[in-house]
Formats: sequence, C-alpha cells, structure tokens
Amino acid sequence: MTVQRPLMIVDIAQLLANVEALRDRLSPAQLMLVVKNDAYGQGVEPVVSSAARRGVEWFGSFDVETGVRTRAAAGESARVFAWVTADRPAIEAALEANLDLGVGDASFLEDIASVSAGRGARVHLKIDTGLRRNGVRPEAWADFVGLAAELERKGDVRVVGVWSHIAETSDEDDDAARARFRAAVDAARAASLRPELLHLSASAASYARPEFRFNLTRIGAFAYGIRSTHGPQLPDIVPTMTLLAPVIEVREDRVVAGIGYLDGVPSTLAGRVNVGTSKGVSTPLIEVDATTLSVRPWPGVQVGDDVVIFGPGDHGESSVTTLAEAIGTVGEEIVVRVSPLIPREYAYPREP
Ligand SMILES: *Cc1c(COP(=O)(O)O)cnc(C)c1O
Repeated sequence: MTVQRPLMIVDIAQLLANVEALRDRLSPAQLMLVVKNDAYGQGVEPVVSSAARRGVEWFGSFDVETGVRTRAAAGESARVFAWVTADRPAIEAALEANLDLGVGDASFLEDIASVSAGRGARVHLKIDTGLRRNGVRPEAWADFVGLAAELERKGDVRVVGVWSHIAETSDEDDDAARARFRAAVDAARAASLRPELLHLSASAASYARPEFRFNLTRIGAFAYGIRSTHGPQLPDIVPTMTLLAPVIEVREDRVVAGIGYLDGVPSTLAGRVNVGTSKGVSTPLIEVDATTLSVRPWPGVQVGDDVVIFGPGDHGESSVTTLAEAIGTVGEEIVVRVSPLIPREYAYPREP
C-alpha cells in the first residue's frame, strides 16, 4: 500500500478475533474490554460499537467522559465501568449515562451517594492489594465497607462489585494480592454487602492464571494484540495496528519518511530498532526528528513507498512491545502516543 501521509490502519476484524479468542479462553469469567486512552489509540467509537455488536457486554473506560462516549457507542444494554475519581458534575453525568463506578476512597463514595440521592448508583469497591495506586488500604477496609453498607441501606448506592488491580510482574506479588483481595471480599460480605462481580486481573494474569479470573476480567493490551514486556507474542493474539509513513525523499545515505508534526514516534528509538518497508525488507531506523524519520536505504526504494513503523506480518516490527523494549517502556506507551492527528483507517470484518 502507498500512502501520501502517515496513516494508522486499525484492523477491527483482527481486534474482534482477538476478543473472541480471549472470551473463549477466559470463559466462564466475562471479559471487560478496556478502552482507556481512546481505546489504546485506536478510537473509542469504532472499537466499542464493533465489539458491542459482537456481544461484548462490559467495557472499561477509565474516566467518566470516555464512559459517556462508550455508552453512546455501545448502546443501552452494555455495562460500562469507569473507575477514576470524578467531581460532582462528572458523577451526575456518569449516573445519567448509567455507568458503573469504581470507588477507591470513602470521600468519593460519599460524593456519589449524595449526588445519587436515592438513585442507587452502582459501585464497585476497590481494595488496594499492594499496588498503592488508588484503592482503600486493608486497614481502612472494614470501616469503608461499613460505610458502603449504610449508604446502600439508604438506597443511595448499590454495591455490585469488589475489585482491585495488580502489577502482573511477579507471580509471588500477584498471589499475595489475590489473598488480600479474597480477604476483602469476605469482609464485604461480613458487612452484609452482596457484591456479585469480582474482578482483579488485566490481560497477562487473566490469560495465564485461571485463579485470577473470578467472574470478570479487565482486558486491554491483549485485545489489541499488544504483548507483555518480555512476554511471548501469543499465536491467537495478533497486533491490530499498522503505522505507515510515506517515503518523501531518497538520498544516497538515507531514506526520509514523513511522520507529520510531533506525532509521537519516540526519537529515542533511533539507532535501536529496525523498522519495515512496504517492500517487505527490514531496515535500521537512524534518526527521528519532529516531522520526519530516516532509515537506511533499501534496494529499489522510491518516493511513495512506505516505512512500516510497526504492524503485524513479516515486515517491520510486528509488535509495538518490541519497540518499547528497546527504550525501556511498555507497548501501550508506543500506541497511545501516536498522534490523534494521524488519520486512522479502519478495516472491518465482512458481516455475514
Ligand atoms: C489499563 C487497565 C487494565 C487493562 O490492562 P491491560 O494490561 O492493558 O490488559 C485493567 N484494569 C485497570 C484498572 C487498568 O488501568
């Protein structure tokens, strides 16, 4: 394919195939498709509406604003979970959009209850199982679930879930977090709460470790085919994004491709990775500046060819995680930094 400007191709058909493979594997636990950061750079609306049509029932939006967009794209019957602390106007917007809210501190719970005022806002209580990234500390949990039970009796909230988030970098740490999680669920039940939804793990632990799935799993990276840092590219989980930059100049010592203006290709990748080309050869990336990147010439290169910065297949880096590893970050960072100014082109499955 030849493009005249940078282009991100999003393969929705592949995304849905990944989601289906994951649903099969994780069943009977349900899959919540996480769509934070504009669906990992791929676009909330196309991702959510396609997934909802394929029967995905749960979406995880991070913030309320994305939750409201997700609701609009997913339709009324989907469940949408937003978990970042919000102010009162955002709580009102969340209730109007019928979102489920994740709650990791007592004052946020009280705010939700007072905005809700008898409307029974659905909340999922978050225990901090060790990550220390929002969540109620175990020593404060008994008071917290006591407060939740009182607000539930008044009809202001309905506690439908208990959840946490884990690091997924060491099995031992994750196991310790799971023990804290189970204790928190027991304590919630002892406080007469009846949370029917329990969710702890994201892609990596959900995929590999059945005991982490409970009855709901929050899946982002793997749905988009982004493998874990130092993890394998799983055969049934394929990258969904291809980022192309057109060759605008061929010189003796380098090929220059246009990437727009500060579009988020990290300049630190220069000298550390190979990228692909539309001719199927791989070539070293030698420089990235604000509007161009330069690679070593390849035989027969012409203006109008493409440099494939990442994408599935046998050209270029198939995984954004490979690029990320070269500069000490995670694949998600590479995809979410691709500028929204770069047009997305969507490849949809053929409907039966
Ligand atoms: C981002 C996120 C996820 C999804 O994580 P992946 O590793 O991308 O699957 C799940 N839960 C929370 C709370 C998150 O912030």
